[in-house]
Amino acid sequence: MNKELILGKNIQNWLWEYPLLRKMIKTEEVFWINPKLTNFNEASKNLSLTEEDVLDARNRLERFAPYISKVFPETMKTKGIIESPLVEISNMKKLIENQYDFYLPGNLFLKCDSHLPISGSIKARGGIYEVLTHAEKLAAENNKLSLEDDYSVLDSNEFREFFSQYSIAVGSTGNLGLSIGIMSAKIGFNVTVHMSADAKQWKKDLLKSKGVNVIEYDSDYSKAVEEGRKQALSDEKCYFIDDENSKTLFLGYAVAASRLKQQLDEINIIIDKDHPLFVYLPCGVGGGPGGVAFGLKLIFKDNVHCFFGEPTHSPCMLLGLMTQEHDRVCVQDFGIDNITDADGLAVGRASGFVGKTLEHMISGDYTVQDETLYTLLKSLADSENIYLEPSALASIAGAINLFKIDSGYKYLSKNSLEKSIKNATHISWATGGSMVPKNEMYQYYRKGSLQD
Ligand SMILES: *Cc1c(COP(=O)(O)O)cnc(C)c1O
Repeated sequence: MNKELILGKNIQNWLWEYPLLRKMIKTEEVFWINPKLTNFNEASKNLSLTEEDVLDARNRLERFAPYISKVFPETMKTKGIIESPLVEISNMKKLIENQYDFYLPGNLFLKCDSHLPISGSIKARGGIYEVLTHAEKLAAENNKLSLEDDYSVLDSNEFREFFSQYSIAVGSTGNLGLSIGIMSAKIGFNVTVHMSADAKQWKKDLLKSKGVNVIEYDSDYSKAVEEGRKQALSDEKCYFIDDENSKTLFLGYAVAASRLKQQLDEINIIIDKDHPLFVYLPCGVGGGPGGVAFGLKLIFKDNVHCFFGEPTHSPCMLLGLMTQEHDRVCVQDFGIDNITDADGLAVGRASGFVGKTLEHMISGDYTVQDETLYTLLKSLADSENIYLEPSALASIAGAINLFKIDSGYKYLSKNSLEKSIKNATHISWATGGSMVPKNEMYQYYRKGSLQD
């Protein structure tokens, strides 16, 4: 255990103030309910981002849709809108109820961001959006594009040549690099992805095949981000996409909410006081799940309950929210190693911007062991024939833990949900997986089999 002071306090003081830390340090699974959760009106006071900002992002993506559908033919069906299916997984619900011996009141759905076109993860929302935002800005500043134009003109040698004077840098554990690398290379930017040690070889290979510069580090995500930031500082034509602080990324993710509302409407699912919505989001640095949760709160307000899920070895958002120290602490300060097979969630220090923005809106945060992720991966494949990467299964664990663990039940009673819970809609946000190569996926599935 760490004998040094952490933010001026010794470890005994920390443990006394936050008893849950003891279990977190032992990397045991925990379920934390946010004592600072308030009603939406209260929580949304003094926020720097608004509904208009999200609408602006939605409109920007619509402007780019003709271009997207032209250069990524897999988006032709949706006319260039990058969106994922919402599917009910009632077989999986039955299977986990048996496996974990509990009852989940209401219906269980999977939001398949795992199957988002272009980059196969939730990062196809924020990452692609920020690259497009930057491209639009550069083109407009140089009088090459106006809001009324048909943006499919961007698919031309003239524009590719124009964008090739500029570069993009980003640090990533893998999936953000994929989305930003693929999009940037397509539009014509010079792009460099700084990859942490967690990043899978196939992701690096895929990026290199698309002409992306990939720089690899032996260290974790924070180091990769730092190096990306450094690269951009030394070159004024280089734009750094800052996963730890970017409001643009956050807004790109937030657009998911109004699209989800539309999908729920289409299948006649009402969300109101008597029909609550529960959403379980795998969390790394926080931008993806945070942006989605923010968008959902704007629409459904107090009728949506958002929970973040993290690996037991990387509970950075939980640590930041609980102590209210946000990015001033990291899991390594407390001797937690940030080593997990859930590579998309292998982050030791959470985004301070996201934690502070959502500190009164997030219902809670729970942690999951890697072994549980593999077991759930196999269960979902067996029951629904849907294959996800390990990180994404943290979303299913949320629905289980809320109803299996005492602290979960406390949340329901504290928020007077005992009656309405039978009408609940649960959405596990499946954040990635469709691009994982078959042989890798087979290894994951086998690990799930070994856990039984
Ligand atoms: C990045 C990622 C997340 C979490 O997003 P953050 O913005 O890092 O919190 C969750 N799941 C997968 C598969 C990811 O790649």
